[in-house]
Amino acid sequence: MLTFIIIYFGLCMGSFVYVAYCRYLPTLTPCQYLCRISVYRSACPHCHNRLKAWQLVPVVSWLILKGHCYYCHAKISHHYLIIELLVATLFTIIYFDYGINYQSGMLMILSCYFLFLALIDFKYYLLPDLFTQPLMWAGVIFSYLDMANIILTEALLGIFLGYLLLKVPASLFYFATKKQGLGGGDIKLLAALGAWLPYTSLPMLLIFSSLLGMVYYFLLRYVLNKNTLKIIPFGPFLLISGYAIYYFS
Ligand SMILES: [Zn+2]
Repeated sequence: MLTFIIIYFGLCMGSFVYVAYCRYLPTLTPCQYLCRISVYRSACPHCHNRLKAWQLVPVVSWLILKGHCYYCHAKISHHYLIIELLVATLFTIIYFDYGINYQSGMLMILSCYFLFLALIDFKYYLLPDLFTQPLMWAGVIFSYLDMANIILTEALLGIFLGYLLLKVPASLFYFATKKQGLGGGDIKLLAALGAWLPYTSLPMLLIFSSLLGMVYYFLLRYVLNKNTLKIIPFGPFLLISGYAIYYFS
């Protein structure tokens, strides 16, 4: 019974993550964005009809409506379904590994937040301070309150080291080529991840994420033949690697 509750909770959280991602626009102020995710009711993006409660049940509604809007029959993105199922799967794995406790709760929250950040970076090539700064400060506060896996000094060292690990090569690259090799958001994200992870694991995190990024690039360039590809987002790979290290440490 508890497994079903966890799965359903995961589906709902996945749905929320995808809605929060869809409602984000880089041009919005923090207040406007908070309004959009907390006050606005869900509506069809094509005909703008407000959705009823039965049309908002994760997965079930999509299946009943066969992936189309009830009113205008426009296609509803299957990405909703993928993200809902992905989060539900992650929650179930976390539950089987850790049970129900503080650690599993933290892993579930971070998985949603990291997924949200990765989606934003994939779409906009952007990691706004609005999302990376709270992640960093949350890490500092939790370590100060003794509610994290590391102590405050380690969190502060992690932020410092995380910042330097990407800032130094990015600056050197810029001086040598006068081109931007890394986004400022990536540097701030690694600093934010440093507030959550043992600082000794940050070089490993950087190696893992670079390898993942390279695999992604080669897949797109040589397997899917996307020859026009010039830049790839680095944030998602930092997030995946950071999450894996957090999960297993
Ligand atoms: Zn519609």
